[in-house]
Amino acid sequence: MKALVLGCGVIGVTTAYELVKAGLDVSVIDREAEPAQFTSFANAGLVTPAHAYAWANPSVPMIMLKSLIRNDTSVRFKPSFDPAQWRWSLAFLRQCTQRRAMENTNRKSKLCLYSLACLRETVAETDVKYDQKKTGLLYNYRSAKKFDAAMKKADILRAHGIRLEALTPDEMVAKDPALASAKDQMAGSLFAPDDESGDACMFTQGLAEVCRSKGVKFQFNTTIKGVETEGDKVVAVRTDRGNFSADIYVICLGIYSPHIAAELGLKIPIYPVKGYSMTLAVNNPDLSPNRGGVDEDNLLAYCPMGNRLRVTATAEISGYSNTYKPHNFAHMTRVIKSLFPGAGDFEQAKYWAGLRPMTPQGTPYFGPAKHSNIWLNTGHGHMGWTMASASARITRDLILQKKPEIDLAGFLLT
Ligand SMILES: Cc1cc2nc3c(=O)[nH]c(=O)nc-3n(C[C@H](O)[C@H](O)[C@H](O)COP(=O)(O)OP(=O)(O)OC[C@H]3O[C@@H](n4cnc5c(N)ncnc54)[C@H](O)[C@@H]3O)c2cc1C
Repeated sequence: MKALVLGCGVIGVTTAYELVKAGLDVSVIDREAEPAQFTSFANAGLVTPAHAYAWANPSVPMIMLKSLIRNDTSVRFKPSFDPAQWRWSLAFLRQCTQRRAMENTNRKSKLCLYSLACLRETVAETDVKYDQKKTGLLYNYRSAKKFDAAMKKADILRAHGIRLEALTPDEMVAKDPALASAKDQMAGSLFAPDDESGDACMFTQGLAEVCRSKGVKFQFNTTIKGVETEGDKVVAVRTDRGNFSADIYVICLGIYSPHIAAELGLKIPIYPVKGYSMTLAVNNPDLSPNRGGVDEDNLLAYCPMGNRLRVTATAEISGYSNTYKPHNFAHMTRVIKSLFPGAGDFEQAKYWAGLRPMTPQGTPYFGPAKHSNIWLNTGHGHMGWTMASASARITRDLILQKKPEIDLAGFLLT
């Protein structure tokens, strides 16, 4: 059976890997020149079931409102004339009730935990290198009120078997001595010993090489323009380099999935949520973090990747532009310097902005689309690196008409 995977980010490549292992004849199309050049390029690198909380929760509407007059909130709403932005934002706000936040967190937790297990299997099978760290992650809290709330909220994740240990600031420094100068700023930390980290772009490129060695064909520099259908089947994908045909197709186009799916009469509620990322060369490893973590009060993530430090922050609902300006990094630079003053070479920082393919619920969509031979694996939002391996496995199972390992209620486009 010939399969055509649309999109060569972390989701497309993990999907190709699962399908070629299952014996399919797989090709992948992307408009970039190599794998993981769009949203999967420079994310925070955290593989983090212990951060599976739904972004849509009761505190977010007020933060979004404040963001209309302030520029330092973690979630920012920048209104435009794009009706899709307003439709998506209203759908997102509808998910901000306590009940929905709980349901979405439960679903995400199950998928993230399953995905960590699948990722570990993939790494054991392929030995792909990606500056992986299996030393757990630290979630650090400056405000005592937030820390108390987080300790209570952690029970939701613990109920799924996700381990989270409360640490005093001294214990936090014992886990990561580079946080010593930040000790007095912190009320406490939650330590997730099973969470991991690594460079998603390196992983995707390494896994693409494994795929290639197993016979997967990659068609780069090729822009998908639309799809051709006959009856209830997709018969070809139209591109600027001609038509490509297969027996089955999988949509893994991140923020652009809705555009292609619209041609099939499908409305997928995915909208870009922008984040900023900088990568520093580490000069002195003793002054830079020894494991990844999050400054929870500023929603700033940091992650050691070999001799580099990746730092990311901000969730901006501002449309499809992934441009950035120096001032976009001012707040996050202040915050990371307050945690690790000697973290790395700030003068030579590499800057980037990426667009998270967010659904209002924060969970992706799987499963058959309207036509009988096209499948969705898209909408992984702020946790696509964490959820990729299980999402690919689930997609493979659905295509092969096997029962997936987890219940898919809430993951299918109804
Ligand atoms: C700042 C930031 C920090 C993040 N941190 C983390 C983290 O710590 N942990 C975590 O789990 N996740 C994190 N994420 C989320 C994660 O990066 C994404 O969920 C994930 O990369 C999405 O992967 P994807 O393959 O769906 O999308 P993409 O990587 O965008 O892949 C889609 C591909 O489709 C291609 N494409 C699109 N349209 C077309 C077309 N018409 N023709 C041809 N090709 C096309 C694109 O070129 C692209 O290569 C973060 C994201 C950001 C922005």
